Amino acid sequence: MRPHALIFLGAPGAGKGTQAREVAKGLAIPQISTGDMLRDAVKKQTPLGMAAKAKMEAGALVPDEVVCGIVEERVSEPDCQKGFILDGFPRTIAQAEFVGRMLTSKGWGKPQVLDIEVDEDTLLKRLTGRRTCASCGEIYNIYFHPPKVEGICDKDGAKLLQRADDNEATIRQRLEAYRLQTAPLIDYYRRQGVLMTVDGNREPAAIAKELLDGFARA
Ligand code: AMP
Repeated sequence: MRPHALIFLGAPGAGKGTQAREVAKGLAIPQISTGDMLRDAVKKQTPLGMAAKAKMEAGALVPDEVVCGIVEERVSEPDCQKGFILDGFPRTIAQAEFVGRMLTSKGWGKPQVLDIEVDEDTLLKRLTGRRTCASCGEIYNIYFHPPKVEGICDKDGAKLLQRADDNEATIRQRLEAYRLQTAPLIDYYRRQGVLMTVDGNREPAAIAKELLDGFARA
């Protein structure tokens, strides 16, 4: 039987968001992106957003209790009853332990964890070239997947924006946070026998197809 919870791991720029969106659509379950939820809170200037903003701008992780709180709230919504994809969460061992407790309390089994592996050069180009539609969230890249008209979303004609943390100095910090705090999760989940890895250096559509075929068989 397909596991209820899928976790997408990978360095910043590995393509977690792009792949999670496709797989979530294909499996008809929600994609839960802590990065998207935090950016939304920053935009709306909620107390959560105000607390997270400085950390995000510095390329550092937001405290575990803050992120665990928003995930706990989100997964208790009705659309998560049949399963969900966690995109960009967990990012620390403490967060992973929290996920374990949360799944146990739901009576669900272990999560299935996917690590998307991408070379460092490609990661940098993906991050510096990334542009996101301000309206529908579609992700473009000026090097690999440019829009038909510069700065405009192909799907709805809205403006494309560059994320505030996709600048070189912050990218360096985010990659360092990944190496120190998140990369240990690969071994953590490998030891639990729930880790799958995928070569993320390829065309996004080819990766998405491989993932959907794999999850449909599981
Ligand atoms: P992302 O969109 O996943 O690259 O996340 C953007 C930023 O949001 C990160 O650099 C962190 O500052 C913050 N963030 C997102 N997810 C988490 C998480 N699980 N734990 C801590 N901070 C997070």
